[in-house]
Amino acid sequence: MAEHRALRHGIDIHRHALEEPRHLLHAAEDGPWPSLGELARRYLRYHPHVHVATDEEIKSGEATDVYFVRTKRILEAKGLMDVRVVAEITPGELPQRWPWAVLCGVEEVARLFEGVPVNVYSMPEGTVFRHTDHRGIREPVLFIEGPYGRFCVLETPMLGLLCQASGVATKAARVKKAAGDCLVVAFGTRRMHPALAPMLDRAAYIGGLDAVSNLVGAKLIGQKPVGTMPHALIIVMGDQVRAWKAFDEVIEPEVPRVALVDTYYDEKIEAVMAAEALGERLFAVRLDTPGSRRGDFAEIIREVRWELDIRGHRHVKIFVSGGLNEYNIPELREAGAEAFGVGTSISNAPVVDFAMDIVEVEGRPCAKRGKLGGKKQVWRCPECLLDLVMPFGAEAPECPRCGGEMEAMLRPLIEDGRIVAELPSPSDIRAYVLKQLEKVEL
Ligand SMILES: [Zn+2]
Repeated sequence: MAEHRALRHGIDIHRHALEEPRHLLHAAEDGPWPSLGELARRYLRYHPHVHVATDEEIKSGEATDVYFVRTKRILEAKGLMDVRVVAEITPGELPQRWPWAVLCGVEEVARLFEGVPVNVYSMPEGTVFRHTDHRGIREPVLFIEGPYGRFCVLETPMLGLLCQASGVATKAARVKKAAGDCLVVAFGTRRMHPALAPMLDRAAYIGGLDAVSNLVGAKLIGQKPVGTMPHALIIVMGDQVRAWKAFDEVIEPEVPRVALVDTYYDEKIEAVMAAEALGERLFAVRLDTPGSRRGDFAEIIREVRWELDIRGHRHVKIFVSGGLNEYNIPELREAGAEAFGVGTSISNAPVVDFAMDIVEVEGRPCAKRGKLGGKKQVWRCPECLLDLVMPFGAEAPECPRCGGEMEAMLRPLIEDGRIVAELPSPSDIRAYVLKQLEKVEL
């Protein structure tokens, strides 16, 4: 949970938040009035700057639902803390009738369970999974085995880590699939709490997006942030040509020149103005046309392309942003758009509805109504991505479709509290996702 690390200094602030009024009062009563600066300093000390749980609160199980804490107390009181279970994580039906989803958040889950006396088996992060195998058996993406009382409070944070990141990564993968070879940049962190920016950008990148715009997001994935220019720059400078030229003068030459061309005039007029102002150095024009002026956005893109081409500016690409998703990108791409900035639809993606269920107690299969008992393995044919859920320990099956060898997908992540899996880099996970995307349809 690297994103919370910077906020660690907030821990004691949080703890003492309730004492604040008394504290400030005492200071005032006890002696000379504190200075305004001193009051401001105390105020900041007692108020966290942002409303997020700290790393410590998440790891210690404080960021959980109270019924787990009560369960733990009862197990403790009855001497049942060490009853061993297998608990599996399976998805409910995928949102919006998605046929598949991308598993994301595994690295954070590994950090969450580090030091907890359990074994965790997981599909590798970035695995494209379906909610059931080809026979309709629900697919576990991860299971935990160990004393239930020692990990029950971690269910809430674990599900939160997986559900949201997997939703974002899946939406990103769908958008990338629709955009094909075109460049797609994640622009959506502004729609969500800023403490989540690294998680959102990592999930979007892992899902297949080519770049992210947020600095802390880019830092986490080890890439350079990518961006164009805001309308504000043009408005503050009072003139679009002055703003484009200023960008070209001030910003280092390796940053591609992308001129925003919809501020005051028609997109095609501003596109030609930008191409004439920056010449060969202009990499792309960006159309972020407001909804009220859009009409037929694909038609606007065709016009811009045409007007640039007949004036010899074929090298200038068209970058579009605003309200994009996997459904409207194909038409815009056909019209001539070659790069996309996608925000809200990805950062506000629906969550994948994972649930945790106990399927084994002290080695005996045991599950609630609607769930299948027993520890399981998910076998996958790497050729046709066909999955088969089998009891754990059963012999490796052959692919019922192509007869090929199948691979076990639930692999050791944590052994007795130690991370035993290699945690691949975001770029490696992204490459794994893109490879699987070739074999699935939207
Ligand atoms: Zn096969």
